[in-house]
Amino acid sequence: MIDLHMHSHCSDGTDSPEQLVILAKKLGLKAIALTDHDTILGLPALQRAAELHDLDVLSGLELSVDARLPNDGHLHLLGYGFDPTHRQFGETLTWLRDERAHRAEKIVAKLRSHQVDITWPELVEYAGESAIGRPHIGALLIKRKYVNTMQEAFDKYLGVGQPGYVPKAKLNEQAAIDLIHRAGGLAILAHPHFMGFSEFSGLQERLEKLGDLGLDGVEAWYSGMPPEFAAQLRSYADERGMICTGGSDYHGSVKPDIKMGTGIGGDLEVPDDLIAKLRQRLSINS
Ligand code: AMP
Ligand code: FE
Ligand code: FE
Ligand code: ZN
Repeated sequence: MIDLHMHSHCSDGTDSPEQLVILAKKLGLKAIALTDHDTILGLPALQRAAELHDLDVLSGLELSVDARLPNDGHLHLLGYGFDPTHRQFGETLTWLRDERAHRAEKIVAKLRSHQVDITWPELVEYAGESAIGRPHIGALLIKRKYVNTMQEAFDKYLGVGQPGYVPKAKLNEQAAIDLIHRAGGLAILAHPHFMGFSEFSGLQERLEKLGDLGLDGVEAWYSGMPPEFAAQLRSYADERGMICTGGSDYHGSVKPDIKMGTGIGGDLEVPDDLIAKLRQRLSINS
Protein backbone atom coordinates (compact mmCIF):
# COMPACT_ATOMS: atom_id res chain seq x y z
CA MET A 1 0.00 0.00 0.00
CA ILE A 2 1.16 3.54 -0.81
CA ASP A 3 -0.34 7.01 -0.16
CA LEU A 4 0.52 9.89 -2.47
CA HIS A 5 -1.78 12.60 -1.08
CA MET A 6 -1.48 14.00 2.45
CA HIS A 7 -0.98 17.28 4.31
CA SER A 8 1.26 18.34 7.20
CA HIS A 9 1.17 21.29 9.59
CA CYS A 10 3.12 23.19 6.93
CA SER A 11 -0.29 23.73 5.30
CA ASP A 12 -3.65 22.71 6.76
CA GLY A 13 -2.80 19.32 8.27
CA THR A 14 -1.93 18.78 11.93
CA ASP A 15 0.98 16.27 11.85
CA SER A 16 4.61 17.27 11.39
CA PRO A 17 6.43 15.73 8.41
CA GLU A 18 8.30 13.43 10.86
CA GLN A 19 5.02 12.27 12.38
CA LEU A 20 3.70 11.46 8.88
CA VAL A 21 6.73 9.25 8.21
CA ILE A 22 6.40 7.47 11.55
CA LEU A 23 2.68 6.86 11.01
CA ALA A 24 3.27 5.63 7.44
CA LYS A 25 5.86 3.12 8.72
CA LYS A 26 3.52 1.99 11.48
CA LEU A 27 0.78 1.38 8.90
CA GLY A 28 3.20 -0.56 6.68
CA LEU A 29 3.07 1.88 3.74
CA LYS A 30 5.74 1.38 1.07
CA ALA A 31 5.88 4.98 -0.16
CA ILE A 32 4.33 8.38 0.50
CA ALA A 33 4.24 11.87 -0.97
CA LEU A 34 3.52 14.99 1.10
CA THR A 35 1.24 17.27 -0.93
CA ASP A 36 0.85 20.43 1.14
CA HIS A 37 -1.22 23.26 -0.38
CA ASP A 38 1.01 25.69 -2.30
CA THR A 39 4.16 24.89 -0.31
CA ILE A 40 7.08 22.46 -0.09
CA LEU A 41 8.30 23.75 3.28
CA GLY A 42 7.85 20.31 4.84
CA LEU A 43 9.92 18.43 2.27
CA PRO A 44 13.42 18.64 3.86
CA ALA A 45 12.12 17.35 7.21
CA LEU A 46 10.12 14.65 5.42
CA GLN A 47 13.19 13.49 3.50
CA ARG A 48 15.36 13.42 6.64
CA ALA A 49 12.78 11.38 8.53
CA ALA A 50 12.22 9.07 5.56
CA GLU A 51 15.92 8.31 5.35
CA LEU A 52 16.09 7.61 9.07
CA HIS A 53 13.05 5.30 8.97
CA ASP A 54 13.77 3.79 5.56
CA LEU A 55 10.60 4.94 3.80
CA ASP A 56 10.32 5.77 0.09
CA VAL A 57 9.20 9.40 -0.47
CA LEU A 58 8.48 11.41 -3.60
CA SER A 59 8.44 15.22 -3.74
CA GLY A 60 4.91 16.57 -3.99
CA LEU A 61 2.58 19.57 -3.61
CA GLU A 62 -1.03 20.56 -4.31
CA LEU A 63 -1.85 23.81 -6.12
CA SER A 64 -5.25 25.52 -6.11
CA VAL A 65 -5.98 26.49 -9.71
CA ASP A 66 -8.14 29.32 -10.99
CA ALA A 67 -10.78 27.68 -13.19
CA ARG A 68 -14.40 28.24 -14.09
CA LEU A 69 -16.29 25.12 -13.04
CA PRO A 70 -19.94 24.12 -12.53
CA ASN A 71 -21.65 23.59 -9.16
CA ASP A 72 -18.97 25.32 -7.02
CA GLY A 73 -16.46 22.73 -8.18
CA HIS A 74 -12.76 23.30 -7.63
CA LEU A 75 -9.60 22.36 -9.48
CA HIS A 76 -6.57 21.22 -7.53
CA LEU A 77 -3.42 20.12 -9.28
CA LEU A 78 -0.89 17.74 -7.74
CA GLY A 79 2.76 17.98 -8.68
CA TYR A 80 5.13 15.00 -8.21
CA GLY A 81 8.80 14.28 -8.68
CA PHE A 82 9.88 17.87 -9.34
CA ASP A 83 13.25 19.36 -8.43
CA PRO A 84 12.52 21.30 -5.22
CA THR A 85 15.59 23.50 -5.77
CA HIS A 86 14.44 24.79 -9.19
CA ARG A 87 14.77 28.58 -9.01
CA GLN A 88 11.68 29.78 -10.85
CA PHE A 89 9.55 27.14 -9.15
CA GLY A 90 10.76 28.40 -5.76
CA GLU A 91 10.08 32.01 -6.72
CA THR A 92 6.50 31.26 -7.72
CA LEU A 93 5.89 29.35 -4.48
CA THR A 94 7.30 32.32 -2.55
CA TRP A 95 4.90 34.60 -4.46
CA LEU A 96 1.95 32.31 -3.58
CA ARG A 97 3.06 32.33 0.05
CA ASP A 98 3.29 36.14 0.12
CA GLU A 99 -0.12 36.40 -1.52
CA ARG A 100 -1.56 34.09 1.15
CA ALA A 101 -0.10 36.34 3.86
CA HIS A 102 -1.54 39.50 2.23
CA ARG A 103 -4.90 37.84 1.96
CA ALA A 104 -4.85 36.71 5.59
CA GLU A 105 -3.98 40.25 6.64
CA LYS A 106 -7.01 41.52 4.68
CA ILE A 107 -9.22 38.88 6.31
CA VAL A 108 -8.07 40.01 9.77
CA ALA A 109 -8.85 43.64 8.88
CA LYS A 110 -12.34 42.68 7.65
CA LEU A 111 -13.01 40.63 10.78
CA ARG A 112 -11.82 43.50 13.00
CA SER A 113 -14.30 45.81 11.29
CA HIS A 114 -16.94 43.25 12.31
CA GLN A 115 -16.03 43.45 15.99
CA VAL A 116 -13.79 40.39 15.99
CA ASP A 117 -10.79 41.32 18.06
CA ILE A 118 -7.99 39.24 16.59
CA THR A 119 -4.78 40.87 15.42
CA TRP A 120 -2.35 40.25 12.58
CA PRO A 121 0.72 39.70 14.85
CA GLU A 122 -1.32 37.23 16.88
CA LEU A 123 -2.22 35.29 13.72
CA VAL A 124 1.37 35.32 12.45
CA GLU A 125 2.54 33.89 15.74
CA TYR A 126 -0.21 31.29 15.68
CA ALA A 127 0.49 30.12 12.11
CA GLY A 128 4.26 29.95 12.71
CA GLU A 129 6.22 28.66 9.72
CA SER A 130 3.25 27.26 7.81
CA ALA A 131 1.64 28.64 4.65
CA ILE A 132 -1.07 30.72 6.28
CA GLY A 133 -4.68 29.92 5.37
CA ARG A 134 -8.26 30.16 6.50
CA PRO A 135 -7.91 27.09 8.76
CA HIS A 136 -5.38 29.01 10.89
CA ILE A 137 -7.78 31.93 11.23
CA GLY A 138 -10.59 29.48 12.01
CA ALA A 139 -8.50 27.85 14.71
CA LEU A 140 -7.78 31.26 16.21
CA LEU A 141 -11.51 32.12 16.17
CA ILE A 142 -12.15 28.88 18.08
CA LYS A 143 -9.33 29.56 20.55
CA ARG A 144 -10.68 33.04 21.19
CA LYS A 145 -14.20 31.59 21.59
CA TYR A 146 -15.84 33.50 18.73
CA VAL A 147 -17.01 30.10 17.42
CA ASN A 148 -17.03 26.52 18.68
CA THR A 149 -16.05 24.59 15.56
CA MET A 150 -14.11 25.02 12.33
CA GLN A 151 -17.33 24.51 10.39
CA GLU A 152 -18.93 27.39 12.33
CA ALA A 153 -15.87 29.57 11.61
CA PHE A 154 -16.36 28.98 7.87
CA ASP A 155 -20.15 29.32 8.05
CA LYS A 156 -20.11 32.58 10.03
CA TYR A 157 -16.89 34.31 9.02
CA LEU A 158 -14.58 32.72 6.45
CA GLY A 159 -16.71 31.10 3.75
CA VAL A 160 -17.79 32.71 0.47
CA GLY A 161 -20.25 35.54 1.16
CA GLN A 162 -19.31 35.82 4.85
CA PRO A 163 -17.84 38.98 6.41
CA GLY A 164 -14.26 37.71 6.45
CA TYR A 165 -14.18 36.23 2.96
CA VAL A 166 -11.32 37.26 0.68
CA PRO A 167 -10.55 35.21 -2.46
CA LYS A 168 -7.14 33.57 -2.80
CA ALA A 169 -4.58 34.29 -5.54
CA LYS A 170 -4.31 31.28 -7.85
CA LEU A 171 -2.43 30.34 -10.99
CA ASN A 172 -4.47 29.52 -14.08
CA GLU A 173 -4.47 26.00 -15.56
CA GLN A 174 -1.65 26.56 -18.04
CA ALA A 175 0.55 28.43 -15.56
CA ALA A 176 0.11 25.72 -12.89
CA ILE A 177 0.92 22.85 -15.29
CA ASP A 178 3.91 24.73 -16.73
CA LEU A 179 5.24 25.53 -13.27
CA ILE A 180 5.38 21.84 -12.34
CA HIS A 181 6.81 20.85 -15.74
CA ARG A 182 9.56 23.44 -15.66
CA ALA A 183 10.79 21.94 -12.38
CA GLY A 184 10.79 18.49 -14.01
CA GLY A 185 7.64 17.20 -12.30
CA LEU A 186 4.40 15.57 -13.39
CA ALA A 187 1.09 17.46 -13.24
CA ILE A 188 -1.80 15.35 -11.98
CA LEU A 189 -5.44 16.37 -11.63
CA ALA A 190 -6.42 15.91 -7.94
CA HIS A 191 -9.76 14.36 -6.87
CA PRO A 192 -11.51 14.95 -10.25
CA HIS A 193 -14.91 14.13 -8.72
CA PHE A 194 -14.73 17.43 -6.78
CA MET A 195 -14.73 19.51 -9.97
CA GLY A 196 -18.49 19.87 -9.96
CA PHE A 197 -19.34 17.62 -12.93
CA SER A 198 -22.25 15.35 -12.10
CA GLU A 199 -21.48 12.96 -14.97
CA PHE A 200 -18.16 11.63 -16.21
CA SER A 201 -18.98 12.93 -19.72
CA GLY A 202 -18.82 16.54 -18.45
CA LEU A 203 -15.42 15.93 -16.92
CA GLN A 204 -14.20 14.21 -20.07
CA GLU A 205 -14.54 17.38 -22.13
CA ARG A 206 -12.49 19.27 -19.55
CA LEU A 207 -9.89 16.49 -19.43
CA GLU A 208 -9.38 16.81 -23.19
CA LYS A 209 -8.55 20.50 -22.75
CA LEU A 210 -6.28 19.87 -19.77
CA GLY A 211 -4.56 17.12 -21.76
CA ASP A 212 -3.86 19.66 -24.51
CA LEU A 213 -2.31 21.93 -21.88
CA GLY A 214 0.02 19.11 -20.84
CA LEU A 215 -1.74 17.34 -17.97
CA ASP A 216 0.14 14.10 -17.27
CA GLY A 217 -2.41 12.15 -15.27
CA VAL A 218 -5.32 11.91 -12.89
CA GLU A 219 -5.82 10.95 -9.26
CA ALA A 220 -7.97 7.89 -9.79
CA TRP A 221 -7.73 6.24 -6.37
CA TYR A 222 -9.43 8.43 -3.77
CA SER A 223 -11.63 7.48 -0.87
CA GLY A 224 -15.32 8.10 -1.59
CA MET A 225 -14.93 8.52 -5.35
CA PRO A 226 -18.03 6.90 -6.87
CA PRO A 227 -16.89 3.46 -8.17
CA GLU A 228 -18.33 3.86 -11.66
CA PHE A 229 -16.75 7.31 -11.98
CA ALA A 230 -13.39 5.87 -10.86
CA ALA A 231 -13.63 3.02 -13.39
CA GLN A 232 -14.39 5.46 -16.24
CA LEU A 233 -11.57 7.73 -15.12
CA ARG A 234 -9.04 4.88 -15.07
CA SER A 235 -10.02 3.59 -18.48
CA TYR A 236 -9.94 7.14 -19.91
CA ALA A 237 -6.41 7.56 -18.50
CA ASP A 238 -5.30 4.21 -19.96
CA GLU A 239 -6.63 5.11 -23.40
CA ARG A 240 -4.87 8.48 -23.42
CA GLY A 241 -1.59 7.29 -21.96
CA MET A 242 -2.17 9.34 -18.81
CA ILE A 243 -0.84 8.02 -15.53
CA CYS A 244 -2.98 7.36 -12.47
CA THR A 245 -2.14 8.23 -8.88
CA GLY A 246 -3.97 7.86 -5.59
CA GLY A 247 -4.00 8.89 -1.97
CA SER A 248 -6.04 9.50 1.15
CA ASP A 249 -5.85 13.33 1.44
CA TYR A 250 -5.00 12.76 5.11
CA HIS A 251 -5.06 16.03 7.14
CA GLY A 252 -4.50 14.66 10.68
CA SER A 253 -6.89 15.54 13.49
CA VAL A 254 -8.74 18.33 11.62
CA LYS A 255 -10.34 15.70 9.36
CA PRO A 256 -10.40 12.75 11.76
CA ASP A 257 -12.46 10.47 9.49
CA ILE A 258 -9.69 10.34 6.90
CA LYS A 259 -7.08 7.70 7.78
CA MET A 260 -3.66 7.71 6.18
CA GLY A 261 -3.39 4.92 3.61
CA THR A 262 -6.96 3.63 3.85
CA GLY A 263 -9.05 6.83 3.64
CA ILE A 264 -12.59 7.11 4.96
CA GLY A 265 -14.03 3.88 6.29
CA GLY A 266 -11.03 1.92 5.02
CA ASP A 267 -12.28 1.80 1.42
CA LEU A 268 -8.98 2.85 -0.16
CA GLU A 269 -6.06 0.75 -1.35
CA VAL A 270 -3.72 2.50 -3.74
CA PRO A 271 -1.79 -0.10 -5.79
CA ASP A 272 1.97 -0.18 -5.10
CA ASP A 273 2.88 -0.28 -8.78
CA LEU A 274 1.57 3.26 -9.41
CA ILE A 275 4.75 4.72 -7.96
CA ALA A 276 6.96 2.69 -10.32
CA LYS A 277 4.88 3.93 -13.27
CA LEU A 278 5.20 7.50 -12.03
CA ARG A 279 8.97 7.15 -11.74
CA GLN A 280 9.18 5.54 -15.16
CA ARG A 281 7.35 8.51 -16.69
CA LEU A 282 9.62 10.91 -14.80
CA SER A 283 12.74 9.18 -16.11
CA ILE A 284 11.43 9.25 -19.72
CA ASN A 285 10.86 13.00 -19.38
CA SER A 286 14.27 13.78 -17.92
P1 AMP B 1 -7.52 28.43 2.07
O1 AMP B 1 -6.54 27.68 1.22
O2 AMP B 1 -6.89 29.37 3.01
O3 AMP B 1 -8.62 29.06 1.25
O4 AMP B 1 -8.25 27.35 2.99
C1 AMP B 1 -8.85 26.23 2.38
C2 AMP B 1 -8.82 25.08 3.34
O5 AMP B 1 -9.78 25.33 4.36
C3 AMP B 1 -9.23 23.77 2.71
O6 AMP B 1 -8.10 23.08 2.21
C4 AMP B 1 -9.87 23.02 3.85
O7 AMP B 1 -8.88 22.29 4.56
C5 AMP B 1 -10.37 24.12 4.76
N1 AMP B 1 -11.83 24.32 4.65
C6 AMP B 1 -12.52 24.83 3.61
N2 AMP B 1 -13.85 24.90 3.87
C7 AMP B 1 -14.00 24.38 5.13
C8 AMP B 1 -15.12 24.17 5.98
N3 AMP B 1 -16.36 24.49 5.61
N4 AMP B 1 -14.89 23.64 7.18
C9 AMP B 1 -13.64 23.32 7.57
N5 AMP B 1 -12.53 23.50 6.82
C10 AMP B 1 -12.71 24.02 5.61
FE1 FE C 1 -6.61 20.88 2.70
FE1 FE D 1 -7.42 19.13 -2.74
ZN1 ZN E 1 -5.27 17.63 -0.55
